[in-house]
Amino acid sequence: MATTLGGCHFCFLMFTTYLFIQFINEARWRLFPRKVTPEEIRFLDAHFPYFTRLKPIHKNEFIRKLETILSTKRFIPRGGLEEVTSEMEVMIGATITMVIFGWKRLRLAHFHTILVYPNAYYSTVNKVYHRGEVNPKHGLIVVSWKCFVEGMADPADGVNVGIHEIAHALKLANLIETDGEHEFNPKAWTEYTQWVPAEMDRLRKGLPSLFRESAALNEHEFFAVALESFFERSQDLKNYHPNMYKALVHLLRQDPLVLMK
Ligand SMILES: [Zn+2]
Repeated sequence: MATTLGGCHFCFLMFTTYLFIQFINEARWRLFPRKVTPEEIRFLDAHFPYFTRLKPIHKNEFIRKLETILSTKRFIPRGGLEEVTSEMEVMIGATITMVIFGWKRLRLAHFHTILVYPNAYYSTVNKVYHRGEVNPKHGLIVVSWKCFVEGMADPADGVNVGIHEIAHALKLANLIETDGEHEFNPKAWTEYTQWVPAEMDRLRKGLPSLFRESAALNEHEFFAVALESFFERSQDLKNYHPNMYKALVHLLRQDPLVLMK
């Protein structure tokens, strides 16, 4: 009996400590938010096409949201990378901001830490080299900076490892109920999923498709690849599959073709 009671006390103590740390973290970033500097805005304008093409009113909104993302996520260098520079933070943070730009307050709170490797890295979990991954158990988004930059190099090829990993994080966050955030509208999700099986089938049969082959692996991969096209080849996707484009506009609460000039 005493042990059970002790256990309960311990759990209660752990829980209140957790809430206290959450409270301190929240207060700290609200009091001392990470501001985006004018140089960083110029850097974004020169290197982040989605931001470059936004209308001025949306640019301001984008910066505010980016500041929230940068204030609430930790960026940690790994695998011999000396530091995560402010440019790296801004580019990765901008990719997160872009993918969740349609939500007023969403910040993918569950994924609190971004690990940045210099190159493709060896995963001890699945014994292969990775360009990026998400780890929902530990709230991590992991990217290789080299692969991230390669993904950004051609902004219209529909291949972007940053968007890909954030898409995985968003889809997983939607299943996490304890983060206090609401991601997908169930109706919009149903609207999107109705178009997926036929597209995966096309890919598996080797028929021509806008999406690359790896999208056929499973519905998670399909979603991540679809979002790469949604942001990098918006008009092509709209022409190729108007219904899926429309469903993604509803699901992500934004239309890149309307947001941009
Ligand atoms: Zn993937």
